[in-house]
Amino acid sequence: MDGSGNSLASGPDGTKRKVCYFYDPEIGNYYYGQGHPMKPHRIRMTHALLAHYGLLQHMQVYKPNPARERDLCRFHADDYVAFLRSITPETQQDQMRALKRFNVGEDCPVFDGLYSFCQTYAGGSVGGAVKLNHGHDIAINWAGGLHHAKKCEASGFCYVNDIVLAILELLKKHERVLYVDVDIHHGDGVEEAFYTTDRVMTVSFHKFGDYFPGTGDIRDIGYGKGKYYSLNVPLDDGIDDESYHFLFKPIMEKVMEVFRPGAVILQCGADSLSGDRLGCFNLSIRGHAECVRYMRSFNVPLLLVGGGGYTIRNVARCWCYETGVALGVEVDDKMPVHEYYEYFGPDYTLHVAPSNMENKNSRPMLEEIRSKLLDNLSKLRHAPSVQLQDCPPDTEFPEAGEDQEDMDERNDPDSDAEMEDLKHAEETPRKYMSSNMQSVKVKKENFENEPNNQESHKAGPEQAKGFDPMAEDVPPMKASDKASMAVDDPHKASSKT
Ligand SMILES: [Zn+2]
Repeated sequence: MDGSGNSLASGPDGTKRKVCYFYDPEIGNYYYGQGHPMKPHRIRMTHALLAHYGLLQHMQVYKPNPARERDLCRFHADDYVAFLRSITPETQQDQMRALKRFNVGEDCPVFDGLYSFCQTYAGGSVGGAVKLNHGHDIAINWAGGLHHAKKCEASGFCYVNDIVLAILELLKKHERVLYVDVDIHHGDGVEEAFYTTDRVMTVSFHKFGDYFPGTGDIRDIGYGKGKYYSLNVPLDDGIDDESYHFLFKPIMEKVMEVFRPGAVILQCGADSLSGDRLGCFNLSIRGHAECVRYMRSFNVPLLLVGGGGYTIRNVARCWCYETGVALGVEVDDKMPVHEYYEYFGPDYTLHVAPSNMENKNSRPMLEEIRSKLLDNLSKLRHAPSVQLQDCPPDTEFPEAGEDQEDMDERNDPDSDAEMEDLKHAEETPRKYMSSNMQSVKVKKENFENEPNNQESHKAGPEQAKGFDPMAEDVPPMKASDKASMAVDDPHKASSKT
């Protein structure tokens, strides 16, 4: 991989960034159930690697403040969130109708602590967005990235969509937010939430064709004001690093040039790695991490979240290496001895060789995809030149001394031994939320007229496409009128029932 920068970079790529990292020591204890491929334990394995590679000391480490019900309801339906809050393995037999309605039970099982799991991973992503809004360059939440969750239902191991919530947080400060998804699955939940707005651009690279969730056709490009603001890159089995970046780099370079986002969220789903239990791509960890390196090189505030990843030793390897990339630190291939060392035998190295599987993505196919998508991007109106300096600072948020204050408050004496690894363990201060968000009354637009969406090839009656989640005429920050921001309302107007 060449690791080269790009035309927008404002400094050498090795420049240090102010990086923060969100981790809750409880996260590894949540358990989807026997045989379920989604294993939150991989987050704890990642954390152990970070600790033993000495990477934690280069970042501010935060224990996320759990997202509250009203935080989750900024995107999700009230009744769905209430259901997630109340359902338990013991009571689920009496809730068969609700389970079916909210798509909970099989892929998305009810397990002990389900709601606090959701609060934790969502809290990390929203907390990361808050940090970016207040001066951090990069925020990391490997527990997040659950991109399939919908407004009113669980999907693909995802219950609440932390990414949508984090984007809503970023939109308080930024006129435009870019979402990039390198999970092997289509980032359908995020795309759907912002399908009709030009304030959020979504770009998903995924396996397409007889593969979950079935959406993500190259012809799905957004609707209404959002036309050309959704980008889908359909790929086939066995894609390798070179083929991937033959698309990723020119496409992302063009996206950055024409869309000029104020912040970027990169979903780093590791099921696109070679040898994934559910995936069928052939990316090396360096190839996967090159996406992080490349997006970082634009020097735009960047939120890194996790996502899929089902060969958990490789997930931990990948996200550890990518944390190093975020920090500008090249980590040793030789792995330090640590509590999960035995997972990494027989080589005990960070990197693993990709396989010799066939790459079904022919060069002519890749060229056709690239040229089609670059053509779509050229139709995209250049981003309006809103001067971010015009945006007043968030006065509710205590900038000075905030971290010190939290360090005092947040050392949790009840936490387990791993808290030792949490240098500066603390929660994100979210006091601003109670003063700011509580009073934001959701502006409900009337979206009765479901447009006839000819561009969308998505199936399903609940797709909520054609709703504009943004009141796009309202600037993101108006000194006199902060509470009128309607950006926290994707799909409040739509209803599943
Ligand atoms: Zn996935």
